[in-house]
Amino acid sequence: MRSGSLNSKSSTHGSGGANVKLVWLLLMIPVAYLVVSRSIAHLCEQRLYDGDRLEVRDCRECLGKGHDEKYARDFNGLGINCMACLGTGKIQVLVPGLQRPTQVWGAVIDWQAGESWTSHQCPKDVRLDLENSILLSTEEKSLRGALPGIGVWFKTDGGRVSAKTDRGGRFGCKLLPGRYVVEVEAEGFAKLQSTLEIEALRAPVWLEKNTILHGRSPEERKSKDGIAVIILLERSGEGSGMLRTFLLPE
Ligand SMILES: [Zn+2]
Repeated sequence: MRSGSLNSKSSTHGSGGANVKLVWLLLMIPVAYLVVSRSIAHLCEQRLYDGDRLEVRDCRECLGKGHDEKYARDFNGLGINCMACLGTGKIQVLVPGLQRPTQVWGAVIDWQAGESWTSHQCPKDVRLDLENSILLSTEEKSLRGALPGIGVWFKTDGGRVSAKTDRGGRFGCKLLPGRYVVEVEAEGFAKLQSTLEIEALRAPVWLEKNTILHGRSPEERKSKDGIAVIILLERSGEGSGMLRTFLLPE
């Protein structure tokens, strides 16, 4: 009785609006699903380049046994799956080839406006994590003194790669191993020309399912490691600027 009266009320007053909302909601479900699944797929992507090899090796955390030895010792032989290999004892290892590029995260900065920049320090948020890139406003994302809309050229014998800084003054690109001449021109600033050496990745990349505690050498690279290229421009007539690189661990 009561629900009937409610239904009739809603059908006479707001059913058109409610239906439209419902249709929108139903339409948004597949869209949201697509966005979420695509971004997860993107995050999990382990792209292989020509010359890269995937190998399966014994897990270095549990030495191929599949269970956590320390846990087993502390709890009287009771086993728990190793978190690195999820109990399989095996880990996929990517052996990089010569065509594997290095990820570059960069920024072009007006050295004078960003006074706090010292050339020995890497700005800590030059690589924005996914969370911050979604949640922060453009203003909050900007690095101090960073210049938007600036073209950056990486020239090598094999051709050239270009990038442009976004509204927050950052840019990103992938560079193959080799020696590059980097050129940046911006109105009111001295042209910067510098060289950049990108070394081939040699260390195997262990694709563990979780962060491991043992067995990892400190200088080893991981799949999402890369370098930061910070370009400091000086006003025309004041100097020729500077390019600095920093290794960015995963
Ligand atoms: Zn393991």
